[in-house]
Amino acid sequence: MKEHPMVPPGGHRLPPLPYAYDALEPVISARTLKIHHDIHHKAYVDGLNQAEIKLVEARRQKNFDLVKHWEGELAFNGSGHILHSIYWTVMAPEGRGGSPGPLTTRCVDEYFGGIEAFKAQFTSAAAKVEGSGWTILTWQPTWRRLEILQAEKHQNLTQWSGIPVLVVDVWEHAYYLDYQSRRPEYLKAWWRLVDWREVERRLRLAVSSKVPLTR
Ligand code: MN
Repeated sequence: MKEHPMVPPGGHRLPPLPYAYDALEPVISARTLKIHHDIHHKAYVDGLNQAEIKLVEARRQKNFDLVKHWEGELAFNGSGHILHSIYWTVMAPEGRGGSPGPLTTRCVDEYFGGIEAFKAQFTSAAAKVEGSGWTILTWQPTWRRLEILQAEKHQNLTQWSGIPVLVVDVWEHAYYLDYQSRRPEYLKAWWRLVDWREVERRLRLAVSSKVPLTR
């Protein structure tokens, strides 16, 4: 397998959606998906590229007066770009996502005591994210197990080294046109879109990653 080349500073690109804008209807409307992907996600890609380019200039000029601002932009826009890129791929048209795969089932059973207990905590955590944010099922390689985390905005409340395997966007832009203030209704319907084959694939890759272990 060819090694993936480094993404150079400012070299990020908006990934195309892996399906048509109307493919997730009626759970997520074409209008929501188009605005969310073409405008919101693109803004994070642009913001990340700009921050990286500005920091290249700062290093060249040895002028770090604005470093705190651009570091913040890296965290916000970089996390936004990564999470949206995952969000599109862990959803599939209704009926196409299958059911939790063998590794997903085993890891979820081991840590959460079953898929229903996992889904109950994940849904509740997502419903209760304060303001704009995400809920993330993450593989924590340093402890060799899964965890559920909330994220405020895109980057706050993280547990470092975690690798996201399933994410749900609970920013209002993800559901407001379709569900207005009824976030729990969006979440209940959202489970019908989860692509468990992609979750299994992501988890398999995450589990094989090598990091130093701690307790
Ligand atoms: Mn979003």
